[in-house]
Amino acid sequence: MIMKGKKGVILGIANKKSIAYGIAKACQEQGAEMAITFLNERFEQKLAPIAEDLGCGTRLYPCDVSRPEEIKALRDALEKDFGQIDFIVHSIAFAPKEGLSGRFMDISKEAFDVAMDISVYSLIEITRELKPILSNTSSVLTLSYYGGEKYIPNYNLMGVAKAALEMTVKYLAEDLGRDGIRVNAVSAGPIKTLAAAGIGDFSFMLKWNAAHAPLKKNVTIAEVGNSGMYLLSDLSSAVTGEIHYVDGGYNIMGMPAVEFDENGKPHIAWNGESK
Ligand code: NAP
Repeated sequence: MIMKGKKGVILGIANKKSIAYGIAKACQEQGAEMAITFLNERFEQKLAPIAEDLGCGTRLYPCDVSRPEEIKALRDALEKDFGQIDFIVHSIAFAPKEGLSGRFMDISKEAFDVAMDISVYSLIEITRELKPILSNTSSVLTLSYYGGEKYIPNYNLMGVAKAALEMTVKYLAEDLGRDGIRVNAVSAGPIKTLAAAGIGDFSFMLKWNAAHAPLKKNVTIAEVGNSGMYLLSDLSSAVTGEIHYVDGGYNIMGMPAVEFDENGKPHIAWNGESK
């Protein structure tokens, strides 16, 4: 039981397809105790059975990260439940629809500010506000995507947000290292979730990734969950400031693999189907 005795909070479960759910499940299976959060009352009822399933009992709290008072209330609730906690999972992102398709230069300042606030600043704010109850061997984990490093069609505004998030991980890791607190990100391959549905041509991204990743498949929330759990556990006690890829190896590819037909003619090794 790798997570036995560990207590933590997981933000960003919308449903059982969420990456955060995959991480929560892996943590539960390895003995962790958790609280989870929901965005607003609309989601409270939906999340109640999930909280039950994860063994959270009544530890299901509201937390819209754009509301500082809800983050403070979350800290108070966690302190009551657990005293100290050992891990935080920040699996949250949002960009207005206009930022996820169309011309990049047309993104409004309003959309830019919202995306940076919800998807990036919230990691800093949550970590700072929960720090008084973080143990001195804590681990903070967030979720990124390759579109924060290289151009990905339609990822547009979220790409800029993920680039900022990845640097935030590194600066936070340096700042909190002196307190024994580690901060890392998993950069996951594309997975069909609610958030992903907002990205233009997402099903093509899935096919492309499966066709060109060395492992020739898309990743699952269970696979991201296991890697995330490792980063939350003491197995990664000397790992901080890392962007850890869980993408079937897609990020190592410089160009698509080429196959040759019987006449020696090259073509991209892709039949357009995803596994
Ligand atoms: P998801 O299931 O839709 O999860 C996104 C979560 O963010 C939802 O629980 C959503 O809450 C929450 N959220 C949005 N605005 C919020 C706010 N103001 N306050 C609190 N929570 C808020 O999608 P997901 O794919 O698992 O996304 C989780 C993370 O993984 C995101 O950072 C995403 O960018 C990242 N990621 C996803 C992929 C992918 O392909 N799916 C790949 C790499 C990285 P509601 O649903 O209640 O609105």
